[in-house]
Amino acid sequence: MKLDALVLGAHPDDAEISFGGTMLRWVDAGLRVGVLDLTRGEMGTRGTVEERDAETRAATQLLGLAWRGNAELPDGRVEPSLPAREQIARTIRELRPDVLVAHHPTDLHPDHCAAGHLARQAWYLSGLARLAQQDGGPEAFRPGILLHFLGHIPADPTFVVDISEVFERKMDVIRCYAKQLEPSGPDDRGQHFLFGADILARAETKARFFGERIGVRHGEALVHDGPFPLDGTLARLFPRG
Ligand SMILES: [Zn+2]
Repeated sequence: MKLDALVLGAHPDDAEISFGGTMLRWVDAGLRVGVLDLTRGEMGTRGTVEERDAETRAATQLLGLAWRGNAELPDGRVEPSLPAREQIARTIRELRPDVLVAHHPTDLHPDHCAAGHLARQAWYLSGLARLAQQDGGPEAFRPGILLHFLGHIPADPTFVVDISEVFERKMDVIRCYAKQLEPSGPDDRGQHFLFGADILARAETKARFFGERIGVRHGEALVHDGPFPLDGTLARLFPRG
């Protein structure tokens, strides 16, 4: 198994909501894209774990992913612990993606922050030969690029991907998580905690905001920590047009 890109989300639906448009573009371009969910979302207010699993399978199919896995970390209690980061480092070595994409370490949900930190730590550890030998798994491999997608808290993006052409398909992928979108009872007004809008409206607001930054209708923002290497990888992942 060799992926072009691995996307790491804390909960099933995080990768779709913040990065689904770019994943669709990549799959359309023939790249092999995988998603690693860190938890099964068992602390979610809406729907059961079994329903979330079924929704995740439907979204995976619609995205055309080459691989999807779950780290089975505890929802609501994700931490950048030694076992967790070594487990994710092993998954990275197994899948050998050229680019790793994960939450930005600054977010409201502690699981999202932890996922961002975990990704950074596992990304580094995956390239250590001695650790790979100790682990007994695949040999060391570190993705050339680590990118972060943005959650509720904005940051100035390093670049924005134009997802205008695939935006409606991205919305269809998010709609696979129907239980997350519908009210769980009479007191549930369809609005998520803290925010005055549902998931679809928030995803559209973010896409319009970041699209505006580059003069297109819909965009997805990415942050790269530090200077970006001009080695041809960027052109391969994000060709013009
Ligand atoms: Zn989440």
